[in-house]
Amino acid sequence: RIVYLNGEYLPEDKAKVSIFDRGFVMGDAVYEVTAVVGRKLLDFAGHEARLTRSLGEIGIENPFAEGELLAIHRELLARNDIEDGGIYLQVSRGNPGDRDFVFPDPAVVKPTVVLYTQSKPGVLQSESALHGVRVISVPELRWHRRDIKTVQLLYPSMAKMMAKKAHVDDAWFVEDGFVTEGSSNNVYIVKDGVIITRPLSTDILHGITRAALLRYVAETQIAVEERPFTIAEAQAADESFLTSASSFVTPVVEVDGVAVGTGKPGPIAQRLREIYIEEALKAGI
Ligand code: PLP
Repeated sequence: RIVYLNGEYLPEDKAKVSIFDRGFVMGDAVYEVTAVVGRKLLDFAGHEARLTRSLGEIGIENPFAEGELLAIHRELLARNDIEDGGIYLQVSRGNPGDRDFVFPDPAVVKPTVVLYTQSKPGVLQSESALHGVRVISVPELRWHRRDIKTVQLLYPSMAKMMAKKAHVDDAWFVEDGFVTEGSSNNVYIVKDGVIITRPLSTDILHGITRAALLRYVAETQIAVEERPFTIAEAQAADESFLTSASSFVTPVVEVDGVAVGTGKPGPIAQRLREIYIEEALKAGI
């Protein structure tokens, strides 16, 4: 695999980052994942805009000139001959030369930029899309700026491990009795034909797939209510689903051991997956 590191395209085993890099030592970095389907980037502009916002929120200078990020994405896709999969991007505050809590002077220390491709042939035909996923709830223990897409993914990883141990697919975080989001996705329930999902705030990541899907749904007759919901509501819902760049729209069929609706992917979730994929591919670049 050819990867991108600080302006260079390198074989992955030649791409090296300092042990002092703040991304490594402090988790001082933000990231994005952009889906690739049929050689097209989905929702690229949204991911670029969120990256700019994340960098701004933690005060890392945006290292990309206008158009540069897209050019790097395209170059990596071409060099690695990627048809389906994704591109991972990470920008850390860089290497200050030693460990220090205080941010280094941005005039001296430049951000570390890493991008690499992930090939997933036939990414649209997943088992989880076909059969839906099962989830458990776990306490929400992340920090309270979940709107910033930082690489601090220890607790989400632990939540995934709890799910794995429970022989299910994923975990939903619950705070003050309400679901915030999934370990790496935004979550929804459908009741009486209405899609219910938590409104944007610092409580959740502002999903790019969520934003695109809600734009597409606005063109249909399906109503959306942005409000928090509980696990009991999810268990009593007609349907449930989740969204993310790597899973698109994926049905959720079980929450904490209770089947949602029929226990099979619901018609609205399946239709939304089709709508999202069709529209995102049409708009893909
Ligand atoms: N919420 C969390 C915590 C995530 O990690 C992700 C994706 O990684 C999402 C939501 C979905 O965001 P997007 O649709 O931009 O991939």
